[in-house]
Amino acid sequence: MKIKTKLTLGVGLLFILIILLSLVGARYINALKNDTENILVANYNTLEYCRNMLLALEDSSANAAKKFEINLQNQEKNNTEIGEKEVTTELRNRFNDYKIGKSENHVLTTIRTQIFQLMNMNMQAIQRKSEVAKATADKAVLWIAITGTLCFLIAFTLLVNLPSNIANPIQELTESIEQIASENYAERVHFESHSEFGQLAKSFNIMAEKLEEYNNSSLAKLMMEKKRIETLINNMHDPVIGLDENLKVIFANEEAMKIVGVPKAEIVGRYSQDLSVKNDLVRTLIQDLMSPGNGVGTKTKPIKIYSDNKEGYFDKETIHISITPTGEQTKKLIGHVIILRNITEYKELDFAKTNFIATVSHEFKTPISSIKMSLKLLENEKVGKLNDEQKNLLYSINDDVTRLLKITGELLDMTQVESGNIHLTILPTDSRDILDFALKATKTQAEQKYIKFSIDCPQSISKVQADQEKTTWVLTNLLSNGIRYSYDNATINIKISEADTFVNISVKDTGQGIAPQHKDKIFDRYYRVPGTKKEGTGLGLAISKEFIEAQGGQIMVESEFGAGSSFTLMLQKAT
Ligand code: ADP
Repeated sequence: MKIKTKLTLGVGLLFILIILLSLVGARYINALKNDTENILVANYNTLEYCRNMLLALEDSSANAAKKFEINLQNQEKNNTEIGEKEVTTELRNRFNDYKIGKSENHVLTTIRTQIFQLMNMNMQAIQRKSEVAKATADKAVLWIAITGTLCFLIAFTLLVNLPSNIANPIQELTESIEQIASENYAERVHFESHSEFGQLAKSFNIMAEKLEEYNNSSLAKLMMEKKRIETLINNMHDPVIGLDENLKVIFANEEAMKIVGVPKAEIVGRYSQDLSVKNDLVRTLIQDLMSPGNGVGTKTKPIKIYSDNKEGYFDKETIHISITPTGEQTKKLIGHVIILRNITEYKELDFAKTNFIATVSHEFKTPISSIKMSLKLLENEKVGKLNDEQKNLLYSINDDVTRLLKITGELLDMTQVESGNIHLTILPTDSRDILDFALKATKTQAEQKYIKFSIDCPQSISKVQADQEKTTWVLTNLLSNGIRYSYDNATINIKISEADTFVNISVKDTGQGIAPQHKDKIFDRYYRVPGTKKEGTGLGLAISKEFIEAQGGQIMVESEFGAGSSFTLMLQKAT
């Protein structure tokens, strides 16, 4: 049956029952009213008239007869019981006799008897009629009870059945929709086919079936794609590890398993934090992911890993995977992929290059130094007098030899840095001493270009925790760069100041400056801003950075292209 029909029938039936109950009630109330009215008008009034007539008989006043006459007349109009009329007519005759004065005592007795007879007759009628009224009331109670019970039963049945009849299918449908929403496409609903819910169920089942069909086809496709990607990742020569947003390992390829040294079953599905407790490599790999901000923007050094009984170098790249979920606006992080690029081959080549440069520059240093010594001897007039042309030649040879010595020195320092063999002697040092040494070293160079130094240094300044020789080398390099890249007659501002746990030494020139796109690269090895005409190796700043960072300091640059540059050394205060 249709829901609409059910509702119409239920409510309609209730409506009819209410009307029926009202009609039965009204009918019996009316019947009771008639019964009581009947008693009141027909009998009670007669009793009243009889009582008045009896009182009039006892009355000796002048208007007693008149009172009797009025009540008798009323009684004559109110003859309701069988035989009442005859008794009343008899009473009238006796009263007429009494009025004309016939045998008085005997008449009065008859009148009284007749009045009592009337009263008796009506009292009996009252009793009889009240019996009838009682029966009517009982009948009313019975019928109202029957109709009421019927109403109650029907209303109760409707109350129990109708809401559940409507709500149950809705609930079943809601549960089924929830099942579908949680991708259980096998879910179906079964409702009585000829109700509206039946049609709804039919449409719902069709939809679920189509979704199931679609899901199965796309699931197969997805499985295929998954297999393809898995094979692809497995065949990659670089180790790859995939983590979810909670750092649980979701996949790892063969290469990754090889270097981590743990079988697949023991790594996939486990939290990398747990794995890192026992595995140093996993700890190193997730170190930046554990740090606040997931280590975004941090540069990591190549990782040295022993696997298959050989040493390998790997460059780690962490890719953070974010997606915008369907229907949402903001991106959500869903995991990370760690890729380790095997750079062992390049590293080996790099080592060979470093060794080669170290050997060559070391071998060059001694002959170049002895050439420099010989030049000094030649300059001495005791050895022999030189003409002006020979002197000029000597100067230019001296210049070239000095440059060669600087280059070999820088190359040697670089090889030290690359092989990680920097030997530092870090002691509390006065930053002004460092500055004095550096100024002395660059004095001649500055004079050649008529460049002046302006020094801003407080009277007392904290000592710094630094290797004096290396830091002097760095500051000399900064001053030398300042001079080289400044115009003649310029002034270089040097400022020493304190901030927190650092002493800052800044060297500010008013030269050509550095374009923003080169600013971050000038600290890279062998990097020179394209178009730089001055001689150089591009190693000075790279070595400076390594030296300063190795002693816990920092080196920074600020530059306005065309207006000059400012290099700052931040050195840790000695405690
Ligand atoms: P280089 O031997 O070439 O000077 P550095 O490592 O000292 O090597 O410097 C790297 C590059 O940075 C230089 O080639 C130059 O282009 C740029 N540079 C360094 N210092 C300055 C400066 N004070 N003003 C402008 N450019 C500079």
